[in-house]
Amino acid sequence: MRELIKKAVLNHSLTHDEIVLLLREDKINQELFSAADNVRKNFVGDEVHLRALIEFSNYCRCNCMYCGIRAENRFVERYRLTKEQIISLAKNAAGFGYKTVVLQAGEDMYFTAEYLSEIIKELKRNDIAVTLSIGERSFDEYALLKDAGADRFLLRLETSDKELYETMHPKASYENRKRCLSDLKRLGFETGTGCLVGLPGQSLSSLADDILFFKEIDADMIGIGPFIPHTHTPLKGSSSGSFNLALKVMALTRLLLPDINIPATTAMETLQSDGRILALQSGANVVMPNVTLEEYKAKYEIYPNKSRVDYNELVEKLAKIGRTVSAEKGFRKKQKL
Ligand code: SAH
Repeated sequence: MRELIKKAVLNHSLTHDEIVLLLREDKINQELFSAADNVRKNFVGDEVHLRALIEFSNYCRCNCMYCGIRAENRFVERYRLTKEQIISLAKNAAGFGYKTVVLQAGEDMYFTAEYLSEIIKELKRNDIAVTLSIGERSFDEYALLKDAGADRFLLRLETSDKELYETMHPKASYENRKRCLSDLKRLGFETGTGCLVGLPGQSLSSLADDILFFKEIDADMIGIGPFIPHTHTPLKGSSSGSFNLALKVMALTRLLLPDINIPATTAMETLQSDGRILALQSGANVVMPNVTLEEYKAKYEIYPNKSRVDYNELVEKLAKIGRTVSAEKGFRKKQKL
């Protein structure tokens, strides 16, 4: 096992079966986490990039089985921020020192690519990078958003197990998800993807495939989070994903893709207090504090008890583990492996 970790640190490659072995064996977890921490330090350094997250709409046309804002959840009070509200939140974030804003929403077609483009153009008047996380659109729509100045796009594959994907996403197509990711790459977006860990029916073998998929498409960012059941979804009776397993998937991703950006996700912190710091010490180098207006934060409930970031507390905790807040936009600096 230790040899496998050493090999991954040196060559940034592992086979499917080797990844499964490492995921299954818990005795080597500490070695794995500290190896990922070292690789993170050597490739992307001690600076942490903060991305200001704006959850601008919880309307959604999809029915993802795990997600609290799925179309069929009648208990959600739906909201949409206005163009002016989004621009003002982004301006405040930029004024505060954020170098990236992330616009995230359900798949809300009220926000056409044309309308989003107007917003993006306004946001780009500030000295910030703009990331979108708005789900599946056509190539032409993505192209319009790119032309408007969007820099990055987050679209998790969620799982590389086609059958599980289709069970979890009624009426959606696994091929279309992949098509979106390849379009985004082709259009020159910095492309982020990722997976959920602990979906009912998910195997270690498919998690290994997830990691290999990230490597295969040369993703620029990877977000990994444990599944957390939401009461008003069909998966309400399922158990949460394991924090440790999610952390291991994240650490292995860092070993195989050493120069990418990896957030310490909110779901990690929600499942375990100090999960965010543990993630930052196991391969992560990004945090995405939510800067949405207070009255809407609770309504964007993709899973319950979403943890919050207290900015000052975060900076203090970062200092304690020898990390600083980056003053740069934090694009991926691709390195020859
Ligand atoms: N509509 C956008 C944004 C989705 S929300 C899109 O399709 O990309 C962002 C992420 O939250 C999702 O990609 C999913 O991985 C995660 N998520 C949703 N429900 C969750 C749950 N119950 N537990 C943990 N993570 C969840």
